[in-house]
Amino acid sequence: MKDARMRNEQTDTLKQYIDAAASITVFTGAGISAESGIPTYRGDDGLWNTYDPAKFADIDYFLKDPAYYWNFFKDIRYPFIASAEPNMAHAALADLEKQGLLKCLITQNIDGLHQLGGSRNVLELHGNTRHIKCLTCRLEYSMDEVFGILAEQLPPVCPACRGPLKPDVVFFGESLSRDVLDRAVKASRDCDLFLVVGSSLVVQPAASLPTIAKQNGAIVIIINKDPTPLDGMADMVLHTGASSALAGITRQ
Ligand code: NAD
Repeated sequence: MKDARMRNEQTDTLKQYIDAAASITVFTGAGISAESGIPTYRGDDGLWNTYDPAKFADIDYFLKDPAYYWNFFKDIRYPFIASAEPNMAHAALADLEKQGLLKCLITQNIDGLHQLGGSRNVLELHGNTRHIKCLTCRLEYSMDEVFGILAEQLPPVCPACRGPLKPDVVFFGESLSRDVLDRAVKASRDCDLFLVVGSSLVVQPAASLPTIAKQNGAIVIIINKDPTPLDGMADMVLHTGASSALAGITRQ
């Protein structure tokens, strides 16, 4: 009973911040897609408890032993992402954009669920795993096409030139797109409300965006199940699930 009252009060406060805002930038991480069934890296059900990120998410390891990544893709990444649907939290953010309040959605996610949920102005800092490119001829393939190739050939090669294939995501050890990062920094500077949803806020340089927003005068709100290193500087922190926090926040 007490918990329910506290949750209602938090939702009311969150809504008041949103109603008072003129320009909102949202920054999302793996936590927002957890309720769509895609495991996070960190947190209780995180992938890091089972798979070694030094192997499946590291560019040097990928180039040395691509089969490790492609086995992970075949067994885990593809089945989870191909079957995932956007959830209520993705929908609430798409609604905020339609109302003209949310100007820019910055995501660390590589699952494409924001776009499937109706968001348009999305900056994907770490790329999108649904797109797979040949490192030699740069031809692009869909996730489904490459999953089909994997039944015959692992690691897969480009059907056109036999070059190695790589998902269009930023691995540890690779640089983010300068253009995307510059636009994300600008959107963090220009907003008056910066909302973090479902990120552990430990991966740099993405995790510096809330601080940039704060330094430029924005209100910063963090919605994440577990504590983050930036909780202390935020104006409001909700340690709860993304959907329950965002349900009912859009203006009627
Ligand atoms: P992270 O795994 O480091 O942290 C996720 C956070 O989400 C955790 O702190 C956890 O407490 C929180 N969380 C879990 N369930 C939640 C829920 N229902 N509601 C709210 N919060 C919840 O993720 P990150 O900060 O995005 O950063 C790490 C990297 O993970 C990024 O580079 C991203 O590309 C990659 N990643 C992406 C996906 C995806 O695209 N869905 C999945 C796994 C990892």
